[in-house]
Amino acid sequence: MYVSDCISVNERGHLTIGSYDTVELAKQFGTPLYAFDENEIRRNIREFKKSIDDEYNGNGLVVYASKAFCCKEMLRLCNSEGAGVDVVSGGELYTAISVDFPAENIVFHGNNKTYEELEMAVDYNVGRIVVDNLTELRTLDKIAEEKGKTVGIMLRIKPGIDAHTHSFIKTGQIDSKFGFSLETGEALEGIKEALSMENIKLRGLHCHIGSQIFDLDPFELAATVMLDLFKQVKDETGVELEDLNLGGGFGIKYLKSDRPRAYSDYMRKVSTAVNSYAADLGLKTPFILIEPGRSIVGAAGLTLYTVGCVKDIPDVRTYISVDGGMGDNPRYALYQSAYEVICANKAGEKRDWTVTVAGKCCESGDLIQEWTRVQPVEPGDILAVLSTGAYNYSMASNYNRIPKLPVIFVKNGKAREVVKRETYEQMCSCDI
Ligand SMILES: *Cc1c(COP(=O)(O)O)cnc(C)c1O
Repeated sequence: MYVSDCISVNERGHLTIGSYDTVELAKQFGTPLYAFDENEIRRNIREFKKSIDDEYNGNGLVVYASKAFCCKEMLRLCNSEGAGVDVVSGGELYTAISVDFPAENIVFHGNNKTYEELEMAVDYNVGRIVVDNLTELRTLDKIAEEKGKTVGIMLRIKPGIDAHTHSFIKTGQIDSKFGFSLETGEALEGIKEALSMENIKLRGLHCHIGSQIFDLDPFELAATVMLDLFKQVKDETGVELEDLNLGGGFGIKYLKSDRPRAYSDYMRKVSTAVNSYAADLGLKTPFILIEPGRSIVGAAGLTLYTVGCVKDIPDVRTYISVDGGMGDNPRYALYQSAYEVICANKAGEKRDWTVTVAGKCCESGDLIQEWTRVQPVEPGDILAVLSTGAYNYSMASNYNRIPKLPVIFVKNGKAREVVKRETYEQMCSCDI
């Protein structure tokens, strides 16, 4: 009935997440807050893992893209489920290191990693650094040599597939700041140089074709394009690469009408393509990495707000203002992202009122949703915005010096803070 099975309504007519009453959550921890169903996150990881086990003989690794939602407890959870983690900055890597995340299961991305970030990764023996460009490759080789280490890398390849055009296309030259381009020969050149380096171990190749993708065909095409490159590398250098990293981007439900495909469908299609195409090309089947971010946490989380003023502008629209806004959820302001809004304490009632939900920031564009249907709400009601588990906490800012929200995990009838609400003192702690 809702965007995720972990969302429901209890006998009091209150919205629940993981069977926990969200109105109680708001009372216990105050608003605004983010809440996640821990079991749902675990189920999602297990489903991805199972799809690799069932469809690809377990010859792969699920690597959680932590930029979707990164905090220590989330990374501990990933490790406890046997998933790896993908980090894209020194800060995300620091978070992983601080929970003793196994270095072999860390994948380090980014199109402009700093010298310090690369050193940090080499010092921690990160299993796979995904190198974006030749400058980075040479810097990394130098760092590895200085430290007397061999560094495992992958190269990020632009496969020339744009999954965001309605009917996806294979372009000659995709315009992207990420990675080595295939068409210009840059990719092969980078691969050859990496193979020639003494302190670098090229483990394989990576591609990531976009985000919130519902269509399975672009993933399949990307896999085959990458295998063509594996074949070319084998023919020209005699080296058979081991790892194929297919990135993330699996679509989730923001609206009830969204229809994401089961992860097992994705893996079946990609596995079939990889197995048969690798055989056609005379290649052994590669070890596969997939990097889901949004699909692991997105629909497992929601945001709770308290309604302040309700402003009805006759013949224009009705604004409902809440005690958060673009600071905790910039996605509507950034990309007019769609969300379902539910009055948590009136969840059993009909959503027959059309309103605009506004935040409390000094910015007319500080909106969470426009022309959305909600129950008749009044000041003091609790408003839930669903599917905010990905790219909300991680994209939050302190705009207007509003402190960051706490994150609550619920599991089996218990709720616990995994990130505390930021205090004013903490927010000002770097000020001189
Ligand atoms: C963002 C990103 C992901 C995760 O994307 P989702 O859409 O959240 O699944 C995976 N890999 C790379 C390299 C990324 O940049």
